[in-house]
Amino acid sequence: MSSFLDKRFASLEAYVPGEQPKDAKYIKLNTNESPYPPSPAVAEAARAEAEKLNLYCDPDCTLLRREAAALFGVGEENVLAFNGSDEVLEFAFMAYGAKIAFPSISYGFYPVFARLFGSDALKVPLREDMSIDHRDYLSLGRTVVIANPNAPTGLALSPGQIEEIVRSNSGSVVVIDEAYVDFGAESVIPLTKKYDNLLVTRTFSKSHSLAGARLGFGIAGEEIIRDLNTIRNSTNPYNVNRMTQAAGTAAIRDNELYMSRCRAVARTRDRIADELKKAGFELTASKANFLFVRGGGLSGEEIYSGLRKRGVLVRWFSGGAISDRVRVSVGTEEQMDVFLAELKELQNEKK
Ligand code: PMP
Repeated sequence: MSSFLDKRFASLEAYVPGEQPKDAKYIKLNTNESPYPPSPAVAEAARAEAEKLNLYCDPDCTLLRREAAALFGVGEENVLAFNGSDEVLEFAFMAYGAKIAFPSISYGFYPVFARLFGSDALKVPLREDMSIDHRDYLSLGRTVVIANPNAPTGLALSPGQIEEIVRSNSGSVVVIDEAYVDFGAESVIPLTKKYDNLLVTRTFSKSHSLAGARLGFGIAGEEIIRDLNTIRNSTNPYNVNRMTQAAGTAAIRDNELYMSRCRAVARTRDRIADELKKAGFELTASKANFLFVRGGGLSGEEIYSGLRKRGVLVRWFSGGAISDRVRVSVGTEEQMDVFLAELKELQNEKK
């Protein structure tokens, strides 16, 4: 830290993204990406835009927003595009985060944003079984942020439970982060028409094979969208680059393909979960594209480092309340068979 840094930032502990190895020797199950490449139309659309990179992109994302509004079943005035959903979450913390609440175990970026913007942050514990008790969030009188399904547990609330939270906090914004919703939970986007305090965030990083392009969305009533747009235009009006706008538009046109891939990932997830349970591991009932695993006679660290030596990367959150577990992104059937075989060998070695 330099002596020039503003005191406000002296105690910042930055978010640490999952490892992105530079070589291809790993089966990569550590950052919840899609195991499938983008569809040919998406790659082609991005390539065509590369020819025009000397020109700024459309700051209004006109075409992309039109397609996204149709996909989400809302008006164009109800959706904005962002540089990944991390950006819309950042802006939500900036705009509404003075007093905020989120689960004590959830996406690791929430506490980082809270620190960055000096929020008074209430971290609400999970139940013993790692689920969120939605009643803990009723009438809190502060901004609420919940990932649904939650990460890294994969457990989901029902739309009815979320509606209770939104209704009982009518004086505050409720942010529902639907990064993983396409893998088996139910979206609350329809509720944005009924409640002006609900903001839903979406990403194309997982369900639409575009993690490297950085594309997320915020969906809400017109007033929240206007707030977020003011912040966007006060920081970086060109937040979604030309190639990403084109790739995102093409991905929406191929939505059926992406949804069928999400269903395939969900089927693989459930098959591997059954196999892991048979092998003595304990799992949460994940509705996301990852599994949250512990036990089987192995510590979280043993699973993580043992698999790493065997060429399989999973995520281990060391040092905290969940260090006995690992989070395993669901890859292709073949990748997951290798993961399972290697994990069982680790178990046998320990016996
Ligand atoms: N929300 C949750 C719960 C996540 O796990 C992630 C992925 N790290 C994000 C949001 C952000 O995703 P992105 O910025 O790639 O859209």
